[in-house]
Amino acid sequence: MNPIVYAIPVFFVLMALEWAVAHARQQRVYRLGDTIASVGLGAVSQVSGLYSKAISFGIYVLVAQHLALFELPTDAWWVWVTGLILYDFLYYWNHRLGHEVALFWAAHVVHHQSEDFNLGTALRQSSSGFVAGWIFYVPMALLGFPPLVFAVVALIDLLYQYWIHTEQIGRLGWFDRVFASPSNHRVHHGVNERYLDKNYGGILILWDRMFGTFEDERDDDPVVYGTRKPLQSHDPIWANLEVYAALARDSWRTRKLADKLRVWLKPPGWRPPDLAAQEPAAQFDIKAVRKYDPPLSTAAAIYAGLLFVLLVAAGTHVLALGGADLVRGDIQVPGALYAAWVVLSLWALGRWTEQRGGSQLLLAGLLAAASVPLWPGSVLLALLPLALGIGAMTIPARPAERGELATQ
Ligand SMILES: [Zn+2]
Ligand SMILES: [Zn+2]
Repeated sequence: MNPIVYAIPVFFVLMALEWAVAHARQQRVYRLGDTIASVGLGAVSQVSGLYSKAISFGIYVLVAQHLALFELPTDAWWVWVTGLILYDFLYYWNHRLGHEVALFWAAHVVHHQSEDFNLGTALRQSSSGFVAGWIFYVPMALLGFPPLVFAVVALIDLLYQYWIHTEQIGRLGWFDRVFASPSNHRVHHGVNERYLDKNYGGILILWDRMFGTFEDERDDDPVVYGTRKPLQSHDPIWANLEVYAALARDSWRTRKLADKLRVWLKPPGWRPPDLAAQEPAAQFDIKAVRKYDPPLSTAAAIYAGLLFVLLVAAGTHVLALGGADLVRGDIQVPGALYAAWVVLSLWALGRWTEQRGGSQLLLAGLLAAASVPLWPGSVLLALLPLALGIGAMTIPARPAERGELATQ
């Protein structure tokens, strides 16, 4: 079984604990729309990963089997320890270039779009890492680290980073200078001039100190989270495509042939001179940063929260099935269709919380479709998605106009 399935309940228990600690400290660290967007992006990433990992992990296996210089054993402890350290080192470069090269940023940006910083932000992961991320781990395959070792240390590195996404743990002294920690990772998510593109380390922050990208958190410069070009949307599909679309647009429109390629390889924010001259970039002003927070009515918040829990449960079910078909009585739902339904429903829910055009009908239609495989088994259970579909049609998400900004 996919180990993430076991980790999901732990994620939610720790998020509840974080919420309770913050609540006791009279802090508000979670906003519903942002949480739905962040955790939804995690679900989309995991569900799509069932299919895309075949590409990135498949390449690793191919290289390890056919091009490896050595054959390292899986039953020697030092293979696991050096594997983890080497992976963390390669992760540092993967993550660093994820910020320094536009094509890689297009994938990684998803993790940074949240303007909050909480354990939910940790789950906010890209769905397109498979496109180019595998390149960084080829050296590990060439050295002969077995695919099993690679898969396990990659999982350890990822899971380690969960707990460092919180404002509820302060400075930890020497720990902050050796390991990735809540304090130094808050810095990583900052758009403050001083904090931009710092602290890339996954487990060890020593890499940043070695390669000159370390920055300490400072009380006189509180971290402002997010990206300098805010997404301003809860739509998980658009969140994944945002930067690719902007790069493709620039690449298409610029006149010079070399610039059409440069757009993808330059640091994020670079624009071809002809386009930059036509559309001068706005100066970034940290004091003008406002969180994207379209207000929801109470009924809409309850509805969205309930539907979201159900969709996360369905996403977990898809992961538990490992992409296999869902069989209920005489009805067999192909695994890929079930996975697509979860992704599309999260997409529709995100758009619904923003009152985007057509999102009511889309969400209602997707929910109604979910009652079909439930119907023969349990009439009562099949009524639930129908009731939720009616909710999508009748509950107005909010009365205000679309796309407006609200301060917290
Ligand atoms: Zn990053
Ligand atoms: Zn992070």
